Amino acid sequence: MRGLAKVERTAGALELIDRERPTPAADEALVEVEYAGLCGSDAGIYEFESAFERMDLPNVIGHEYCGTVVETGEDVTEFAAGDRVVERPIRGCGECYQCRIGESNVCQDAVITGVDHDGAYERYIAVPEDALHPVPDDVRSKHAAVVEPTSIAARAVIENSRVGPGDRVLVEGPGPIGQLTAQVARAQGGDVVVSGVGPDTDYRLPLARELGFETVTVGEDMAEKRAEVTDGVGYDIVFDTTGHPSGLTTAVEQVRKGGQIVLVGQTGETTMPYSPLVRSEIDLQCSYASMYEDFERALRMIRSREVDAQTFIDDRFSLLDADEAFDAFVDGQTVKPVFDVSELYD
Ligand SMILES: [Zn+2]
Ligand SMILES: [Zn+2]
Repeated sequence: MRGLAKVERTAGALELIDRERPTPAADEALVEVEYAGLCGSDAGIYEFESAFERMDLPNVIGHEYCGTVVETGEDVTEFAAGDRVVERPIRGCGECYQCRIGESNVCQDAVITGVDHDGAYERYIAVPEDALHPVPDDVRSKHAAVVEPTSIAARAVIENSRVGPGDRVLVEGPGPIGQLTAQVARAQGGDVVVSGVGPDTDYRLPLARELGFETVTVGEDMAEKRAEVTDGVGYDIVFDTTGHPSGLTTAVEQVRKGGQIVLVGQTGETTMPYSPLVRSEIDLQCSYASMYEDFERALRMIRSREVDAQTFIDDRFSLLDADEAFDAFVDGQTVKPVFDVSELYD
C-alpha cells in the first residue's frame, strides 16, 4: 500500500512510499483510513522543526483521521469489523507517575502516531483498541476526521479555562486550534473575538467570520476593538493559539485585570516585565494535548454542530499533491485541509 512519508531530514521531503499492510497485534484493531486532516504539527514535520528530530525516517505521517475497523486482534472486545472509529494519537506509556495519576497527556514518555510510528496518510493503520473511540452513525467520517484537534480545543476551554456565559473572550490566532477554541468557547457561553495578523486576512480571518465570529487584526484595530467589546475593561479570558512569541505579550495587553490567559500554542521565547501580571493577578494557565473525555466531548460537539466541522474543513487538496496543501497551510491560505485517503488505495 502507498503511504505519504517524511523521507529526509530537510524541509519538504514528503514522498509516497510503499508499505506492507500491517497485521494487528492481539490488542489492536486494523483500521482502514477514510479521511485524514493536516495539522500544524504535520506542517512542523514538513518544515522539519527541531521537535521532530527524533523521528526515524522514512515515517508515514498524519494523526487526525476517521476510518473503519476491518480486522481485530484476538483480545479485542470493544470493536468489530465495520465500526467507524477515531484514534487518540498521543498515547501515554501507562507506567510513569503522570499516567498513574490520570494525567497521561503529560506522560513522561508518550508516543505519537505519525511521529513515532507510521500514521494515517495510508490505507491501513493498526491501533490499540483502548486508543479508539466509536463514531456515532449520524456523524460523517469527513467531519469525524477533525475530532482530534477539536479535543485539544475542548481541553483548553472546558478543562483549563474559566469561560462561562457572558464572558468576553479573545482567541489569538485564526489557525486550526484557534478556530476550534473559538467555537468551543462560544458553546460554553463566551462572547468571542478572533484575532489574526496580515497574512490571515486572505483566508483565515474570513473563515472565522463565516463561522460567526467578530475578527480583529493585530497592529490595526486591536485597541479599538478591546475598548468597544469590553467597555475598555479588557477580555475576561485570552487564549493564545498563535505559536508566535508575540502571542503572550499581546495577551497581557488585552486581558483584564484579574483575568485569565490560557496558553495553547507553543510560542517559543519572549521577554516581558512580569510585575504587571502579578499586580493584576493574572491567572496564567497552560493546556496541552487531550485525553479520553476531551475526545468524547469533541465528538458530541461536532455531532450537535456546536462545532461546525462542515464549514471548518477544506477539502480542496489531495494527498497525491500534498506539497500544494502544505505550502498553502504554511502561507495561511487554508486552515484545515482534510484529505480523502481513498485516493491512495491501489
Ligand atoms: Zn493534530
Ligand atoms: Zn506515562
